[in-house]
Amino acid sequence: MSLDFVQTLPYDSITSIVRKAAYGLVTTCIIGTAVYAGYRVAAPEKYSNKRHRHPELNDQIEKVLDSLKISDEQLIHIMHILEEEMSAGLSPITHKQATVKMFPTYVRNIPNGTEMGHVLALDLGGTNFRVLLIDLHGNSKIELTSKIFVIPQSIMIGDGKNLFRHLAECLAEFMKKENLLHSGICYPLGFTFSFPCKQEGLASARLTAWTKGFSCSGVVNEDVVKLLQEAIVEKGINAKCVALVNDTVGTLMACAYKDPSTAIGLILGTGTNACYIENLDKVGTWNGDYNEPKQVIINMEWGAFGDNSRLKHIRTKYDQEVDISSINPGKQIFEKMISGMYMGEIVRLIILDLLQQELLFLGHRDTYGDYKTPLYNRGGFYTKFVSTVETDEGIQFSNTRRVLEDIGIHNPTFDDCTIVQHICRQVSKRAARLAGAGLAVLINRIGKSNITVGVDGSLYRYHPRFKRNMERCSGKGAAMVACVAERNLFKISDEHDKETNDYETVN
Ligand code: ADP
Ligand code: MG
Repeated sequence: MSLDFVQTLPYDSITSIVRKAAYGLVTTCIIGTAVYAGYRVAAPEKYSNKRHRHPELNDQIEKVLDSLKISDEQLIHIMHILEEEMSAGLSPITHKQATVKMFPTYVRNIPNGTEMGHVLALDLGGTNFRVLLIDLHGNSKIELTSKIFVIPQSIMIGDGKNLFRHLAECLAEFMKKENLLHSGICYPLGFTFSFPCKQEGLASARLTAWTKGFSCSGVVNEDVVKLLQEAIVEKGINAKCVALVNDTVGTLMACAYKDPSTAIGLILGTGTNACYIENLDKVGTWNGDYNEPKQVIINMEWGAFGDNSRLKHIRTKYDQEVDISSINPGKQIFEKMISGMYMGEIVRLIILDLLQQELLFLGHRDTYGDYKTPLYNRGGFYTKFVSTVETDEGIQFSNTRRVLEDIGIHNPTFDDCTIVQHICRQVSKRAARLAGAGLAVLINRIGKSNITVGVDGSLYRYHPRFKRNMERCSGKGAAMVACVAERNLFKISDEHDKETNDYETVN
């Protein structure tokens, strides 16, 4: 079994987008099945409250929401900027100052589906920590057993040593349950660590900065594999960390196990990031050998795109507010406009703004000012609410009403529901279009006629329109994209998975 592959499978489902030909029309075909239950593809609805409200009010609301709109021309411009930032990250002269770091990984080969064996994996993503046992059958089939553990907030921002101790404790608990602990076998362990790292080998990587709400002390600039292995040894666990990869790389690899045309890995979860297979001659920062295959997977760390103000022209006051009150102001600007950790908060800030401008919840003014309600509290509007609201079709707004009830708005009017849904749609559409523009840059750059993109992350998985909006946009940006969504690629034997949806932190 290839070591490159060890850490590549901590994913319970993979979705792929396939580029079929170089130009022409956009074709979408869906070959996935049951996982889409609850995923309703709604026909685009017009903002229908215009019938009911005073036209001037609507104009004012539209004006607020106009700041979120990004035209096709603007997106093409953003694609050009991203290309420039990618070149800066890949050049040894500019890498240090570059915002999009374009880290070379040590992964040169993708799997071919024949790899076999039992492997353990840890997946530290930002929202959940997952421990997995992976059984590779050798015929492109994989079986997973996994358990999700929550990382308490106190550990996320505490001493780094405690973080790794906690990870080792969870691993021990899982191995005990699976009868693997002290079995006499030392299991190879892959570590999917989804934070920006400068990789120094397959099993050696230094954290460059924490993101997504983590800020443990004593970890930045340290080798995280070493820190993990020390904690594993301290606990006397029979496992050895043999590889560390970013979640984007893990997703690409897991998808490649099924589909050899996979060349891009994309994450749309707590954060957002992408990786792709690049020719070595384009990687100025490469310091390894130039043997075949003359390619390496690049972990872009595209969440930091815009950290040098180059996306200033598209940022709104809501984006600025999200950024200022985050744990890492000025950092991860692209991520903060796209990913699950921030989307709900952007929506909340817009709702509050409209409320304060007396454009929303007009019939309920007497009940406002209850600052204890989630509406008034940072993180009070979960990103999963955006999905729920956008699942409503027609005029009942039963989901939207439920969500509004949850954030402390009782008996909203039809207009209120329409406006809230409109806000959610604009925010998620902007995010999907930005991600689509990034994807289009990669598809164009790879330039092959058949490219599969592995995608993972709850935002992509559960939001009812993200996928379609992103594909539309990347289809426009790239000459042609044919999209294939595959679901339920892997068997899941984990009842804890449901929890993913119910836990969110916004900093
Ligand atoms: P991680 O990024 O830690 O690997 P996930 O891929 O599960 O974890 O992503 C978690 C993020 O997904 C959270 O920020 C959460 O807000 C978001 N999320 C969870 N459920 C949904 C949903 N139903 N719709 C949209 N976003 C969701
Ligand atoms: Mg993840």
